[in-house]
Amino acid sequence: MRDPMGESRARVTCVVNQKGGVGKTTTAVNLAASVATAEKRTLLIDMDPQGNASSGCGVRAGTRERTIYDVIIGEVSMSEVVVEATVPGLFVAPATQDLVAAELELVDDPKRALKLKEAILSVVDQFDHVFIDCPPSLGLLTVNALAAADAVLVPLQCEYYALEGLTHLMATIDRVKNGMNPSLEVEGVVLTMFDPRNNLAHQVAEEVKKHFFVFESVIPRNVRLSEAPSHGKPIILYDVSSKGAQGYLALARELLLKTERDGKRGAKRKAAAGARA
Ligand code: ATP
Ligand code: MG
Repeated sequence: MRDPMGESRARVTCVVNQKGGVGKTTTAVNLAASVATAEKRTLLIDMDPQGNASSGCGVRAGTRERTIYDVIIGEVSMSEVVVEATVPGLFVAPATQDLVAAELELVDDPKRALKLKEAILSVVDQFDHVFIDCPPSLGLLTVNALAAADAVLVPLQCEYYALEGLTHLMATIDRVKNGMNPSLEVEGVVLTMFDPRNNLAHQVAEEVKKHFFVFESVIPRNVRLSEAPSHGKPIILYDVSSKGAQGYLALARELLLKTERDGKRGAKRKAAAGARA
């Protein structure tokens, strides 16, 4: 986003849910790609050692010498690992299994939760939006993402246990807000893999709406979305006419409208600058 001073700084959104397989990576990849097609310079940071966001954008494990692991442990700067993806305007900071080791290596570092926040500072002026794909846990990697973000986006699969996990997630977000990142906001919940024929899905959706902002754009269960990663392509390159692609394009439009209407932009990142000094 451009501000009146001509200065730009990215809005940083992390995609978080400690429950596995709810559509975090699918959302991070396809939302980032859809935002990039709206002519926003977009960076997708892979904070999951599974590396699925990287491979889903066509960046294969083993082809990169330096990854987000090297950034987190302070060996290289963020710009040294960022690669251009196949979608114009989309860039990726890839991850590999190496990232598992970061948690252990940083265990004695008192600033271990602020590593990503510090690293993002060096690229924040170069992008309009940064998305962070998180692993299915509330461990140090996810806490780094929460500390670095302006906003949290929560993909939710409408199942019986979906709400239980949310309580735990909100408690973690509150802890980060009360400490490292007071301006952190919950952007909202995205319903994923939605099956309108399933009554329970509707009931869970209604319940979630009582507690959170839920995006109107719902992502349907769509086999094309599950096929696209094996081709290393976001859905808009794989099958733009599919319901999955249309879902993520609509979500991107809704998110951009919401943030622009509210005048939301990336926070001035002084806190991290101070922490670095
Ligand atoms: P993890 O917790 O392991 O990181 P995740 O939350 O990132 O998982 P995804 O990897 O995005 O979840 O999705 C889990 C599986 O469901 C994948 O095989 C993915 O291709 C598939 N999937 C995700 N969204 C959809 C959808 N809307 N329709 C069909 N399949 C989907
Ligand atoms: Mg994932």
